[in-house]
Amino acid sequence: MANIIFLGTGGGRLNLLRQIRRTGGFLIEINSLRIAVDPGPGALSSLNELQINPMSIDAIIITHNHIDHMLEAPLLIEAMSSYMLKKGGTLISAKSVVKGDKKGDRCITLYHQSKLSQNIIFGAGTGKKILIEKKGKKISFRLTGVKVKHDDEDGFGFVLEAGGKRIGYTSDTEYIPSFHDAAYEKADLLIANVIRPITDIIPGHLYGNDAIKLLRAAKPKLCIMTHLGLKFLQKSPELEAARIEKESAVRTIAARDLFSYNLNSGKWGKYKKEKTKKDLQKKLAE
Ligand SMILES: [Zn+2]
Repeated sequence: MANIIFLGTGGGRLNLLRQIRRTGGFLIEINSLRIAVDPGPGALSSLNELQINPMSIDAIIITHNHIDHMLEAPLLIEAMSSYMLKKGGTLISAKSVVKGDKKGDRCITLYHQSKLSQNIIFGAGTGKKILIEKKGKKISFRLTGVKVKHDDEDGFGFVLEAGGKRIGYTSDTEYIPSFHDAAYEKADLLIANVIRPITDIIPGHLYGNDAIKLLRAAKPKLCIMTHLGLKFLQKSPELEAARIEKESAVRTIAARDLFSYNLNSGKWGKYKKEKTKKDLQKKLAE
């Protein structure tokens, strides 16, 4: 099973404050693990709306110390640690997130950090096998940190490898030619934070035409664009995705809130809620 569920696909301050698109990041379901990536505002309400128990999350990845990528992580830590009653869950995050940035700001309190089973500091250039214990079983995946050009110097993108799949995530970054091309080369899926369309340049972020350059060179099997800013949404994300697909020859999708992509079947669509009471009870018991 390999599944990506988008809890929020909005980027930029207007989405952040007005929730035109939610800003909750996404879930990776792989090898029986649930990993929340960059859970900003909206993550928890999306999970509850989809009837995904927050307590079923095994790990959180926070790629940098920005509020739209981490605000609801402490709530998910409370869920992973059974309401803080015992240690539980794995946090993989940039140094700035848990130790503090240059100004001394840290976004996860020491109290929340103390309730984690594993608190892993990660960054660009780090390659690590992450081991997670679940119901007496040890499950692993490989994570490789990828350099970003963004406001937080400790930030990172990543490539996650598990179950024979390679999933890349750019996080927030400007395009770094050749470096990003090599890092995400031939990924099964590249999730790219493309905040603006065409050549609407904004420092520290990807925009449409740079995404084309990256896709032409890296040739992933599929690109899903997320973290879409207001200008992107006004342009029709689907039309911009079609343009990028045509120019890059890489299948490209503009993500939508509460949609999911199945890496095994290639199916993209609205995430299906549990249908029966029995299913729900089973899910709650997990
Ligand atoms: Zn950012």
